[in-house]
Amino acid sequence: MTAPSSDLFETRLLIDGERIAGTGPAETVLDPATGQCIATVPAATRDQLEAAVSAAVRAFPGWSRTTPARRSAALLAIAAHLEAQADVYAALESRNTGKPLAAMRRDEMPAIIDTFRFFAGAARVQSAPVAAEYVRGYTSMIRRDPVGVVGSIAPWNYPLLMAAWKLAPALAAGNTVVLKPSEQTPLTALKLATALAELLPKGVVNIVCGRGEAVGAPLVAHPDVGMVSLTGDVATGQKVLTAAAGTLKRTHLELGGKAPVIIFADADLEAVVAGLRVSAFYNAGQDCTAACRVYVEASVYDRVVADVTQAAASLALGVQSDPDVDMGPVISTAQRERVAGFVARAAATPHLSVTTGGRMRAGTGFFYDPTVIADARQDDEVVRREIFGPVMTLTRFTDAEQAVHWANDSQYGLASSVWTRDIGKAMQVAAHLQYGCTWINTHGILAREMPHGGFKRSGYGKDLSLLALEDYTVARHIMIKLG
Ligand code: NAD
Repeated sequence: MTAPSSDLFETRLLIDGERIAGTGPAETVLDPATGQCIATVPAATRDQLEAAVSAAVRAFPGWSRTTPARRSAALLAIAAHLEAQADVYAALESRNTGKPLAAMRRDEMPAIIDTFRFFAGAARVQSAPVAAEYVRGYTSMIRRDPVGVVGSIAPWNYPLLMAAWKLAPALAAGNTVVLKPSEQTPLTALKLATALAELLPKGVVNIVCGRGEAVGAPLVAHPDVGMVSLTGDVATGQKVLTAAAGTLKRTHLELGGKAPVIIFADADLEAVVAGLRVSAFYNAGQDCTAACRVYVEASVYDRVVADVTQAAASLALGVQSDPDVDMGPVISTAQRERVAGFVARAAATPHLSVTTGGRMRAGTGFFYDPTVIADARQDDEVVRREIFGPVMTLTRFTDAEQAVHWANDSQYGLASSVWTRDIGKAMQVAAHLQYGCTWINTHGILAREMPHGGFKRSGYGKDLSLLALEDYTVARHIMIKLG
């Protein structure tokens, strides 16, 4: 697997089945490992956005009336395309995001492909209460109909995976879509656009590029868009919600996270350390489920701090194409400055100790060392705020009640984990955690059949699973008078 050459970069938008160059301001797309520009992608103008929404509106009656079998076949064809070109997509994504290529190919590509396959199946097996005479003399039945045009807005941390999570359920349900990838990472969505133009009727998926305020905001406010699906920052979610209020459109928000990890003294500590080494630093910690806020029972606290410090220090940092690399750079210089700012403020806090990392790598690219901060307290900034970088905090706790209280004492509610050999205790703690997901003796593993999504300021609405398909449909009651 090698990095793609620049002639593989498609930079045109997809509007009404045609590849059209954006005529808005050009956005510079970087390789985070070098800081070099690898492509310039012109944004959509307001007229081009208008054309994309109009195309989706025109395509809706036809696509929404296709059979589930037809939509399923289209999604399977998209999956087959991605599988056939998995190496190319992996190389492109890795180049644009800084992710290690081997991990992208091994972990994300199968998940992306299977997302389309899962929703291809799900399109054909939607369920609801059975039709019956719930009122004497009248037969009732449920329909699940698509919402209409969905405006999908994706972040930069898992660009193609997030596009898959948004496109697959929306299309399976019979919606048409206008997708806006992140301005920082549009390349894989723009490559996929070529295949989508061949595999779907024109206008069913349209892809527009550009910044949030310039292109995302008018997409959200557009009166012909029936639903907006955003994965992004909490502040962006709040803006989207405010803008959507004008047309009272449906919103689906996957926002930030600050995942707590509760480690009891009776846990398999070797498994804990191996698990945290991966789940805190995967994707350079730029993951809304990253195991970043760790609470450790007092009697094993010192050992866990020492072992986790050693494990984090052992991670190989480097360029995407190196097969032995564990962690790549963060996405941008701004993101690295943000991470460095959190760590510098922590290092200047007397009770905190940075046990490893806390350094920017000299030279090109946006590298930041895996960082562990010990002796964190509940009201420390690094415990409360989402850093979205390779930084883990450790806090000592004395009993389960205190650990659960601290874990829940957060504005976020996306993911969490509990580590113990006592399954009764694990289940009791899991029952009290206010998070969309609680893993027991693991962290960060997703299944396409299971929902992903949070509550509190992590947002609402589910990605993946049949519940996502429900989110992209409207349940309708049809009642027939008999006789
Ligand atoms: P972001 O909110 O800055 O951008 C996300 C997308 O929203 C981008 O496409 C951006 O252009 C667009 N956008 C920005 N302002 C907008 C506006 N006013 N109107 C419409 N669209 C707008 O987030 P990011 O920096 O790309 O991604 C990182 C964030 O995403 C983190 O906070 C992370 O926790 C979150 N995230 C959450 C999940 C989840 O499943 N909950 C998954 C991945 C990332």
